[in-house]
Amino acid sequence: MKNKILIVEDEKDVADLLQYNLEKEHYDTIIAYSGEEAVEAVRIHSPDMMLLDIMLPGLNGYDVCKSLRESSMGEGLPIIILTALSGEEARIKGLTLGANDYLSKPFSIKELLVKTRKWIDWQQVVKSFRDREQDHDTSMRYLVHELRNSLSVIGNFSKIALRKDDARKYLKTINIAAVRAEKILDDASLLGRLERGSGAFSTASIDFSALAEEAADMFRDMATKKGVEIVFMNKALRPVRANELATRQVLVNILSNAVKYNRDGGKVWIEFDETNQWVDISITDEGCGVPHHELARIFDKFYRAAGSERTKGTGLGLYIVKLLTEAMGGKITVMSNLTVGSTFTLSLKKEDQNDHEQAAKVKSQSA
Ligand code: ADP
Repeated sequence: MKNKILIVEDEKDVADLLQYNLEKEHYDTIIAYSGEEAVEAVRIHSPDMMLLDIMLPGLNGYDVCKSLRESSMGEGLPIIILTALSGEEARIKGLTLGANDYLSKPFSIKELLVKTRKWIDWQQVVKSFRDREQDHDTSMRYLVHELRNSLSVIGNFSKIALRKDDARKYLKTINIAAVRAEKILDDASLLGRLERGSGAFSTASIDFSALAEEAADMFRDMATKKGVEIVFMNKALRPVRANELATRQVLVNILSNAVKYNRDGGKVWIEFDETNQWVDISITDEGCGVPHHELARIFDKFYRAAGSERTKGTGLGLYIVKLLTEAMGGKITVMSNLTVGSTFTLSLKKEDQNDHEQAAKVKSQSA
């Protein structure tokens, strides 16, 4: 994506010259001819850098600089003021009000491009740092909120239970809240590791069918309570090369949703397929489906599609699925229809035939 530069200059010739040279270097540009237009353009376009003339009609360059720096608008936006060569005072005033750098008029195109590159690079570093911090803040707030909810259920219900002779019936709710709190902490620590990129996965030859059956067994009780049947259509003919724990977690998250979001008495179909380099497992449910316009977002962190409010969840399951699958070099796709249900397909690399034969040989020799 191209970086966006806001040119604030009331002299059309100068603005055009700046635009021409910046666009030649593949930057996108927006021109504002007054201070008011400049503030509005920052709000609407969120540019990556601003070239700001001082002498402007209405709000002048200093006013623009001051108002941007005093508000959260344009946070982290590099501002380069354009001043006359003789204007030392103007440069100092601009820098004092929060401009990052200056260009003297008449300016050299070479200097313009060098400074632009420098400040755009700086802005990108600051932006990625901010995004990471913000993401971390949101995650922390969310986790604290969820944990507090679970703990408050545990606290309140255990208090009631202590006063009652038939305390047993409250233990179930306490237990559900405790299990949920534990799951939230497990997810948080797994996420932390995945997002830090630590935990490069070791891979091994995996029997995809056996692993899927094991994962499905974990949901038999939950499925039976809903009258949902889990049906294996076939078996995987070939092993895959993947990380066992990560694959199990991915299958568990998808299967849990397939049962959770299914209709009462619905089915979950599990089918394997083989293409050139991949073995696919498709998990199809007969549930509520995901609205088409939300499909691309369900793998986002904390995203829950409309209509899922009545079903318990954190919006982390599919995000973890995506991180784990990508970390193993696999693929995850989804198709969904509101009247039919959803199909999640996980594709993992087929075990190399030679490795597979070698492994089988070693196994038979050691038997
Ligand atoms: P959650 O904890 O909310 O289930 P996930 O990350 O596992 O979080 O899923 C994100 C959202 O995607 C869910 O809130 C739900 O709206 C939608 N979703 C996931 N799987 C299914 C499914 N099998 N059927 C319908 N909707 C689903």
